[in-house]
This record gives sequence, structure tokens and C-alpha cells, in this order.
Amino acid sequence: MLDARPLRVAIVGSGPSGMYAAGHLLESPAGTFFEHGLTKRVRHPISVDVIDRLPTPWGLIRGGVAPDHLDKKKIASIYEAIARRPGFRFIGNIQVGADVSVSELATWYDAVIYAIGCDGERRLSIPGEGLAGSCSAHRFVGWYNGQPDFSHQTFDLQTDRAVIVGNGNVAMDIARILLKSVDELQKTDIASHALKALEKSTIREVVILGRRGPKDAAFNFPELEELGELHDTAIVVEGGSALTQLSSNHCNGTNLETLRALCARQRTGRRRIVLRFDTSPLAVLGGSHVTGVRVASEGVEDEIKCGLLIAAIGYRGTALPGLPFDDIRGTIPSHEGRVIDSGKPVTGAYVAGWIRRGPRGIIGSNKKCARDAVMALLTDFELDRLPRLGTLAGDDVLARLRQQVPGATSFDHWKRIDQVERALGSNFARPRIKLTSLDELLKV
Ligand SMILES: Cc1cc2nc3c(=O)[nH]c(=O)nc-3n(C[C@H](O)[C@H](O)[C@H](O)COP(=O)(O)OP(=O)(O)OC[C@H]3O[C@@H](n4cnc5c(N)ncnc54)[C@H](O)[C@@H]3O)c2cc1C
Repeated sequence: MLDARPLRVAIVGSGPSGMYAAGHLLESPAGTFFEHGLTKRVRHPISVDVIDRLPTPWGLIRGGVAPDHLDKKKIASIYEAIARRPGFRFIGNIQVGADVSVSELATWYDAVIYAIGCDGERRLSIPGEGLAGSCSAHRFVGWYNGQPDFSHQTFDLQTDRAVIVGNGNVAMDIARILLKSVDELQKTDIASHALKALEKSTIREVVILGRRGPKDAAFNFPELEELGELHDTAIVVEGGSALTQLSSNHCNGTNLETLRALCARQRTGRRRIVLRFDTSPLAVLGGSHVTGVRVASEGVEDEIKCGLLIAAIGYRGTALPGLPFDDIRGTIPSHEGRVIDSGKPVTGAYVAGWIRRGPRGIIGSNKKCARDAVMALLTDFELDRLPRLGTLAGDDVLARLRQQVPGATSFDHWKRIDQVERALGSNFARPRIKLTSLDELLKV
């Protein structure tokens, strides 16, 4: 028999998947969840604590999405609205697996949804990868977005050419940021330290390497189109099959057509983006700092000189102590949103977002994924499969967490940070000036 007290759910991670899960759980003030907006699934009060390791919420919306994509960041207003629903609580600056354990959460809450994203990086695994001037997109993106883990990094942008390995949307974001003028970047929420470094940048050419031809390129049409909006920038395509594909009369497909149009339209410019296809990196070259990259293009080896090399070949999930982990896929193994260990569901543990599916898909893809986890959770609740023993009341959880981490942040704290950042920005006609170190954030 289900008792009347609220179902208490913790969601670990306040990125899109965590926030969509919170939204599904708190669809009505009574905590009712509607299947497809029609069928009532559970009518029971629910309270949700969204826990994040950072003092600020929204995951990659703040720390990943490109600073010049301010329109996409507006999605955060939906998450803010969810955060204001009765029963919601944000608890930031708590790292699950370090400050609090998976087994503690399992006893404090009736159920836990893990929505921790992919906080690691895939590596090139080629010689020279560790040289100064060679880094992952994860690090570079985190740096220009002012993510506290990477704010202390420095990048030497006093070089003519940067090479990006990988031609997905993240590579396109980085190329744009490297080549946009300071006036344009000023209008974005790029971290001030990155703006300063880019002000002094001498990069005039960005070469983007893709393993296969343009037909199989990982970028999407809108990101490609945006390259065409770069001022005074030529777009050049290199690589045998790419040129054949582009010049073929049978060349069709949105990306190919866009690429052909871009190259035709933007033949000259003080800056260049070279989309080099059918090319793989073999080794990063240099003594202590990168001076180039050795590549293989259709069986022929070649060297490209550069002073900055960024590997944009994907993010990767990292294991959370106390939970099973699929080391090959870099995900938490699951079935229909339930965490699975050796083929069996782990009672009261669910998973959503990139850590469930791997680092693929846009913001919206996480909505359905979060819904699956919530459906599984509420089904288990209805069938009395959740232990519901030893669950702590909301205030007791907070007291325990504060005991373990005195600097835990709340949604009100985040709103204060948000206000301060916007006010700082307005002094310089910028949308916001991000606070980028943990110290600064916690001080506010
Ligand atoms: C560089 C980049 C640019 C992108 N640009 C776009 C774009 O323009 N448009 C688009 O639609 N999609 C974009 N995406 C994809 C989009 O960001 C993802 O689909 C989405 O963020 C995945 O959501 P998530 O909730 O699974 O993970 P995340 O957004 O990564 O959220 C995970 C959260 O979990 C927290 N966390 C991690 N570990 C712990 C822990 N141990 N304890 C507590 N909290 C923890 C993290 O701090 C984070 O807040 C981009 C992705 C990247 C990497």
C-alpha cells in the first residue's frame, strides 16, 4: 500500500535531460505525470531535488553550447520555469561520487535519476597528442564558455593556423569562435578571458579534418550555413573524393549543395576555413609545443603546419563509483531508462540523456529520453517496486548535504549569480559577463 507522503526523487545533473526529467515528474502541482499528455499515469505528490556538481545549473547549455548561439541558450527559460514549480529544489556544488555517494542517495531518496552527461573526452591516441598547443574540444569549449574546470587554462593563439580534427557541429562551433571578430564576440556570452585571448589571436586559417568525404560528414546543415556568415572568410574544400563529389552533376543532398554554394560564393577573404576531407591525423609534431600535424590523405602522407590542434572527436561518459559502467560505450548500461547491472535492474536507479545514449543528439533529443526514465520510475512506483524505506525528509537531506559540503548552492543562489552576471555584462553592452571560477561563483 502506497503511503501519502511525497515520492522523493533525486536527479543527478541539471542539464537538459535532468531538467526534462524534473519537468515530466512535476507536470502538475500534484506531481502528476501524464502519458502523452492524455492518460493519467500517477497522481501522487512528488518532490524533486536536482543535484549538480557545479554551483550553476543547465549543464552544457551554459558550458557547451557556443557563446554566439544565444538563441539556443534561451531554452534555459523553460528549465527556469520548471525550477519554479512546487516540489522542485536545485542543490548545486555537490559532486555525486565524491561529496555524496550513490549508496547514500539510494537510501535518502525513493528513486534517483542519473543525468550526468558525458563529462570526459575521446582522445586521438596518436604520438604527440600531449604537446602544449594540442587539446581536446572538451577543454577548449569549456575554456571559452567559462566552465570553472577549465577557466584557468591558457591557449596560445599567436599562430597563423589552427587545425581541428573531426568535422562535427562542435568543430564548426570552434572554427566560428576562432575566426569571428572581437566586435562580434563581444555580443556573445563568451568568457572574458577567452575574449581577451582571441583579441590577440593571429589565427587566419582554420583547417577542419574529416576522415571521410563530405557526404558522410558529421556536421549539420545549419552549422555549415553559419560558416557562410563569417565575414571576410573564404571557404575551401580539399581532399580527392570531396572535390569529385562536389563537382559531380549527381551531387545532391543538403550538405553537399550547401558546401558547393558556399565555396562558389566565398572564394576570397583575409581568413580561410579549409574543409579537408578523407584525411586522418597520424602524429602531432613539435618539440615542446605543437608545430604541425602529420596526416594521411588517401594513402599519401603530408604535413600541415599549425600552432594549435584541437581534437573534436567526441565527448565521453565517465564512470560514477557505485554504478555499473559500459567502458566501451562510455555509458551507464540501461534498459528502457532503468539502470541495469549484470542484466538486472538496479532498484530505484534510472538514467537519462547523454550518459544513457552516448554523446549524440541535440538538446531536444533528451526530452524523450528523460520521459522514458520517468515512465519507468513511475511504473515501478505504482507497482510498489521502490523500497521507500529510510527515505529522508527534504530538510534532513539538505542538512546532511550541507554537513558534507558547506557551500551547497540553491536555485536562489543561481538567480543571484545570474543577476550579477547580467549586470556586469550590461556595463559593457554584453549579454552577461560570466563568473568563471568556483571562488567567484561561491562568493556571490
Ligand atoms: C560543445 C557542444 C555544443 C553543443 N551545441 C548544441 C547546440 O547548439 N544545439 C543543440 O541542440 N545541442 C547542442 N549540444 C548538445 C547538447 O548540449 C546535449 O544534447 C545536452 O546537453 C545533453 O544533456 P545531458 O543532460 O545529458 O548532459 P549535460 O548537459 O552535460 O548535463 C549533465 C549535468 O550533470 C552534471 N554532473 C556531471 N557529473 C556529476 C556528478 N558526479 N554529480 C553531480 N552532477 C554531475 C554536470 O555538471 C551537468 O550539469 C552541444 C553539445 C556540445 C558538447
